[in-house]
Amino acid sequence: EAARRFRVAVLDVVVGHAEQVAKLNKELEAHVEELDAFAYVASHDLKEPLRGIHNYAAFLIEDYQGKLGTDGEVKLRAMMRLSQRMESLIESLLHYSRTGRGEFVVRDKDLNAVLRGAREMLQARLQETAADLRVPRPLPTVRCEPVMVGEVFGNLISNALKYNDKPDKWVEVGYEGRTEPDGEGGTKSVTAFYVRDNGIGIPAKHHDAVFRIFKRLHARDKFGGGTGAGLTIVKKVVERHGGRIWVESTEGEGTTFYFTLGG
Ligand code: ADP
Repeated sequence: EAARRFRVAVLDVVVGHAEQVAKLNKELEAHVEELDAFAYVASHDLKEPLRGIHNYAAFLIEDYQGKLGTDGEVKLRAMMRLSQRMESLIESLLHYSRTGRGEFVVRDKDLNAVLRGAREMLQARLQETAADLRVPRPLPTVRCEPVMVGEVFGNLISNALKYNDKPDKWVEVGYEGRTEPDGEGGTKSVTAFYVRDNGIGIPAKHHDAVFRIFKRLHARDKFGGGTGAGLTIVKKVVERHGGRIWVESTEGEGTTFYFTLGG
């Protein structure tokens, strides 16, 4: 009788847990849907003001023709370019959230141009931190979704600048050949791109966790605000290309993020 009562009690607990898990799953699904809707609304509300900034810069160039001086016009044109780029990024994100598992337009793209774009976006931060952005050799041309890959470089470089307390900060962007299993018992060579820094590093036990959404390891007040979504998006983009991303790091010495783009 005692054994029977014990079994019933155990069963009760197991069933209770299963119900709990099912309930949590439902809640999680609802949250994911809400997040998608949020991304959609946020993107739309971001696009409008950006369009405004772009148009006002264009109006200024037109209205003050000849009175701005070359420097003024160069700056306004940079504003137009940057807002345009952000708009196309939002467009891609919208596209991605709508068709995340569907259409994804790839083409051959010179990654040096992609990196130039990312560098321009981060120009102010690079100056502010007096960091040295090194590119030891020109990057190759690869098949990819260029706006998204620009976002990958931008995010990784931005983190490399942010999580760095050294007086002489540097970031290095490069690539190396690697051999990986091809899934059919053989091997294949792939290009692994990397973004390396001499910053604070990431403890080994957090190497997987950093790619989880809203995961932040370092104090916001010390290293500046962040959402903890950056690396999650980066990982999604890399995996959408059929690639993978991983991190190697030594605390106090620096971090290297590697990623492949599938080939
Ligand atoms: P955040 O918006 O917080 O920067 P990310 O998803 O980009 O979000 O990064 C997640 C966390 O991983 C960061 O909060 C930080 O603790 C850690 N991290 C990311 N990149 C680096 C780096 N290059 N060096 C040290 N820590 C990093």
